[in-house]
Amino acid sequence: MALERATALFFELFSGLPRQGPGNATSTRRALGLVPGVGPGTRVLDIGCGTGAQTLVLADCSPARIVAIDNHPPFIDALNREARELGITDRLEARVADMHSLDFADGSFELIWCEGAINNVGVETGLRDWRKVLQRNGHVALTEVCWRKPEPPAECTAFWGREYPAIRDTSALLEAAEACGYETVGHFPLPASAWWDDYYRPLQDKVTAFRKRHGDAPDAQELADRCQHEIDIWHAYSEFYGYEFLVLRVR
Ligand code: SAM
Repeated sequence: MALERATALFFELFSGLPRQGPGNATSTRRALGLVPGVGPGTRVLDIGCGTGAQTLVLADCSPARIVAIDNHPPFIDALNREARELGITDRLEARVADMHSLDFADGSFELIWCEGAINNVGVETGLRDWRKVLQRNGHVALTEVCWRKPEPPAECTAFWGREYPAIRDTSALLEAAEACGYETVGHFPLPASAWWDDYYRPLQDKVTAFRKRHGDAPDAQELADRCQHEIDIWHAYSEFYGYEFLVLRVR
């Protein structure tokens, strides 16, 4: 019951957002531009698609056929609804699936896309395990949080030590990708606007409304506090960390 309530509160706070993590359409388009030869025959697997902010950009900017997966059914329902409204269900299908065990035949895709989600399985595990569903010379585009400057203040280090101890700097991330059998086609940092305009600003509005709605319920207030702390850490220390977009090719 407690778990059900915690899950319900979590999804109440995070539902209805334009996206579920930092990112923006310009960056998705820029990364797509680094992948050669995307055409009507290109099959894309978008892993951890959420409600599909980046999936819809991929569908808009390319004629590729896209399968988008996420393990949260309401996100998948929302994306399939959007695909129906746009009349693109012939080349965009969203499915509930677990990124830990991809259920596709070997070589099913030319391109794997994964914005803000590979951390759920771990970069090395994802890159090694997902490779089998890629064609030879297939590509992976992903975003991952990285340190941007050395010696972040203790409060910032402590936050990331709790939230995601696997955070590393960009060169260590690129080395890890190469050790997993990929070469780097290109990489670039997401701009601060991709954190604020597209993610934290809408989330901040939701946190404020959620607090009011839940009055003095301690579990709801604690969730709101945690979310607020994440946003506050970003305001205070965003020069020290950010997302990097990586476009990789199977070696
Ligand atoms: N790509 C979207 C975006 O940038 O807006 C969503 C990013 S959100 C930070 C991470 C997503 O990964 C969530 O939608 C979550 O439901 C999904 N996810 C987490 N664990 C997963 C798993 N084991 N299998 C599939 N999806 C998962």
